[in-house]
Amino acid sequence: MALTLIRNAAVVAAMDDAGSEIAGGAVALRDGVVLAVGTTAELTPLAGHADEIVEAAGCVVTPGLINTHHHLYQTLTRALPGATEASLFGWLKRLYPVWARYTPDDVFAATQLGLAELALSGCSLSSDHLYLFPNGVTLDDTIHAAAGIGVRFHATRGSMSVGESAGGLPPDSLVEREDAILADCIRVIDRFHDAADGAMVRVGVAPCSPFSVSRELMRDAALLARDKGVMLHTHLAEDADDVAFSLERFGCRPGQYAEELGWTGPDVWHAHCVQLDHGEIDLFARSKTGVAHCPGSNCRLGSGVAPVRAMVDAGVPVGLGVDGSASNDTANLLGEARQALLLQRVTHGATAFAAREALRLATRGGAAVLGRPDLGQLKPGLRADVAVWDMADIASTGAWDLVAGLVLAPPVGVRDLFVEGRAVVRRGDLVQSPRASILAAARRSLDRLIATG
Ligand SMILES: [Zn+2]
Repeated sequence: MALTLIRNAAVVAAMDDAGSEIAGGAVALRDGVVLAVGTTAELTPLAGHADEIVEAAGCVVTPGLINTHHHLYQTLTRALPGATEASLFGWLKRLYPVWARYTPDDVFAATQLGLAELALSGCSLSSDHLYLFPNGVTLDDTIHAAAGIGVRFHATRGSMSVGESAGGLPPDSLVEREDAILADCIRVIDRFHDAADGAMVRVGVAPCSPFSVSRELMRDAALLARDKGVMLHTHLAEDADDVAFSLERFGCRPGQYAEELGWTGPDVWHAHCVQLDHGEIDLFARSKTGVAHCPGSNCRLGSGVAPVRAMVDAGVPVGLGVDGSASNDTANLLGEARQALLLQRVTHGATAFAAREALRLATRGGAAVLGRPDLGQLKPGLRADVAVWDMADIASTGAWDLVAGLVLAPPVGVRDLFVEGRAVVRRGDLVQSPRASILAAARRSLDRLIATG
């Protein structure tokens, strides 16, 4: 029955339907849920019962940020020579041989490192897309790593089944048999998936992309996910090459391919969707198919500007994703919110996308895309995932509108982060796992990968 009271915040930005912003705000957390949101004066009667009081003067308090697309294993292949200036297909071909040398320890170390980076920048829920399983790697390695950091985790069991010899992109050594893929999906869903409100771990089914698995696997994955009641995730329409591949190989655009194989609906979310046309945006809006918008990655790989303004206006659920650290190199959701805003403005003008709207993508948008109505806003009864941002520090001091400043003049990191009411970050440092051991494990793996490269 631990009660935590966060009080005297400069502003609590609740991200609720009314867009409430409470000056001098406070939030009370109890038993993993938000107990109350209001002014500090309104919540003062709770102070006497609180096990902990967090003073938040000069801070903005928001829901924890939600990351809808990542490949955490890639955290050990940032800024890799030969991949820093490549576009998607060339970039993948440079990286596949390095990833093929990963062991379970490497995936664990990379996942820990990436989730620590996300937690320190205010992310309370991350999805992950692991689609290669060399040398005994399993999805379990990532789920165990997430438990050590303390953030919520939506692990998706990715896959590749069409190797180079069959006209696909990945080397044959990294592809799996389709029956083995489906059997392992069932294993990890049965072992780890928690469908309940407040779940810390969920599992999804996620063939890597239409260009690395067969039509049959896409269809069977959708059938399996629906049978098990879990979500579906993949990459779609990431760049012009991706669309050209779809037209040549399947004779249709990516959106049509997705629809034919059962890959539309509120239980599906697609990463990127940079090249969706009007018809596909309409399809996604009608079917409530989600999109993980990854602006940093899209810029890094020169993939283009996703039609986010049009998607949001049409009613497509849109969240933000940092994407894998090999195609973004950094993982910071406020940075992605800022980049999302900048890309829409450079395309459509200065009024095209507001800072608050970008912040909403990073919170409510992500919750909608990942099927988490229990998250994404500070509201009594919903889960207690809360970020406390110190706006009186160097990077943000000078901001007059602190909520807009969170996106336009973001702090270097989060000050405090609570997930399910438990502290994950306090005063800018990790609480549940020592920073030094995360770094040491990452260094060991990195040194081995470099030495064998
Ligand atoms: Zn990706």
